[in-house]
Amino acid sequence: MAKIGINLSTGSLQQEEIIVGIDLGTTNSLVAIIHPESKKPVALREHNSSSLVPSVIYFDQYDNVVVGEEAKKHLITEPYNTIFSAKRLMGKSYNDIETHSDFFAYKIIDDNTDRLVKVQAGTKFYSPIELSSFILKELKQRAEHILKTPVNKAVITVPAYFNDAQRQATRDAGKLAGLDVLRIVNEPTAASLAYGLGLNKEEEKTIAVYDLGGGTFDVSVLKISNGIFEVISTNGDTYLGGDDMDNAIVTFWIRKYEISPEILKEDRMLAQSFRLKAEEAKKTLSSTDNYVSELRGMELTLTKDELNSLIQSLVDKTIECCILALKDADLSVTDIDEIVMVGGSTRVPLVKDSVSKFFGKQVHTEVNPDEVVALGAAIQADILAGNNRDVLLLDITPLSLGLETMGGLMDVLIPRNSKIPTKAARQYTTQKDGQAGMRISVYQGERDLVKDNRKLAEFNLTGIPGMPAGIPKVEISFLINADGILVVTAKELRSGIQQSIEVKPQYGLTDEEVEKMLTDSIANAKQDMIARAVTEAKTEGEQLIQTTENFISKNKNFLTSAEIESTQNAINALQQVLNGTDKDLIHTHIEQLNEISRPYAERLMDSAIAMAMKGKQV
Ligand code: AMP
Repeated sequence: MAKIGINLSTGSLQQEEIIVGIDLGTTNSLVAIIHPESKKPVALREHNSSSLVPSVIYFDQYDNVVVGEEAKKHLITEPYNTIFSAKRLMGKSYNDIETHSDFFAYKIIDDNTDRLVKVQAGTKFYSPIELSSFILKELKQRAEHILKTPVNKAVITVPAYFNDAQRQATRDAGKLAGLDVLRIVNEPTAASLAYGLGLNKEEEKTIAVYDLGGGTFDVSVLKISNGIFEVISTNGDTYLGGDDMDNAIVTFWIRKYEISPEILKEDRMLAQSFRLKAEEAKKTLSSTDNYVSELRGMELTLTKDELNSLIQSLVDKTIECCILALKDADLSVTDIDEIVMVGGSTRVPLVKDSVSKFFGKQVHTEVNPDEVVALGAAIQADILAGNNRDVLLLDITPLSLGLETMGGLMDVLIPRNSKIPTKAARQYTTQKDGQAGMRISVYQGERDLVKDNRKLAEFNLTGIPGMPAGIPKVEISFLINADGILVVTAKELRSGIQQSIEVKPQYGLTDEEVEKMLTDSIANAKQDMIARAVTEAKTEGEQLIQTTENFISKNKNFLTSAEIESTQNAINALQQVLNGTDKDLIHTHIEQLNEISRPYAERLMDSAIAMAMKGKQV
């Protein structure tokens, strides 16, 4: 029976609500759907333009947001306000990306901690979730414009190696963009689906998915049986891709034409023109043997053989990763039944040939490698819509389950739509010295503040032995068994004390109530995100004040009175804005306090190290 719905904004009747598939990529993103007539997956595009939307966000001087091709134009001229590769920042802390900080031309707030990163553009601070939500919002709007119908539901893909935090960040970005994210699907799984792999329940296969994009490479080994995909191993290099090929070509040309690298550093426009020509040369050589062009009166040439020798080592690196992925999966090349190629750079003949040679088999390249992941996401969306009855749908949790943390925030441990049975665990610690108990409040729902969610249970973990704040390690685990019963256990790992509780999350909850909780969460996503950001900024500010005050009282004798005074002034200023609700102002003052304390903190650290070294020599 087909479902008929009413489009509330237009009052018109509509067929089953559309669920789109979204490939939220590092370089490019796109949307696909199952075509209502042909029943085949198609990527959405406006008239004859490309289906790809560059994953680039530009903020103008009034903080207006521009996404896509238009934003890309500002990459060179306004690097500080033009954000690319936001996907690389999802779920990451400052410490995680430190070694690659040169890669990002925009300002990433670096306070040398394990807090999640923020990006500063103009006077505003953005989380990677917000940045990704801008891209998703643009995709949603484009899809609505092309399909002439509201788009509220989506399946979004993520790399197989994304951890829980990165997956949750992607869900949150979807929610913030006004999308109900029905499922987060692994990119290699989606790509396999696009080739029809896994759609037949009887099929048992082992698949390698080789994904070489503009800036990243990964390879995944998957096993399908009974229509269920399992990722057995992944490997790759998150800083290897087509861009490196372009750079190798630029380096080759500037040597050949004896251009000093200094000139390119100064003349950013020339450098950019070289890069664009290099990419054009590479793409041309995917279908011909010679490239000839002209740049500022210079004749630029490149042959296919030259290109191959320039990129050979890069291709070899990807093959090394394939070897490691097979090793981790405990498989040999002959165990692989199918090889699926994903990403624009797999169009390069040397790449295709090398992978094919390595696996000793023809590789799948029939589907457009830029679109294959989104097309697979559309197939997954169609399965979830119940249109493909051959595929098994698994039991899932309809609402997220989590805990209350500092400031009344919801910390999700098991996201909605997780397959059951499932389990998840996270570590927490105490806030006060000698704290002996911890209250654990379990909530269900999609809102950022627990007060808007449904409380399922509460209990106290008591008898934590006296320790300074931050030292106890309390692991809280959620386990949902096949009957949908949730067991929450809290265990202090140093002392071993533990307590647990059982609840039935679905008890007394109607389908209408679940639906309302979902629609409310999407309708309030923006306010919720703001409330969360303010609470997090306040917590960060309060903690910074506390640690700075502790530091000063401990090291008073080593600081000048001017240092103490300027720090105290910055603390007072921060304290004052903590009473307000302007998160950007709070972050600005956090930055200022950090700037003031950094020099003397480093000085004292150096002298402490020097003392320790001296101690060792004696
Ligand atoms: P993706 O990140 O999957 O969108 O891949 C983008 C990368 O694919 C960029 O480095 C492009 O230069 C590269 N690419 C796109 N088309 C071709 C082509 N015809 N031949 C070689 N590389 C290509």
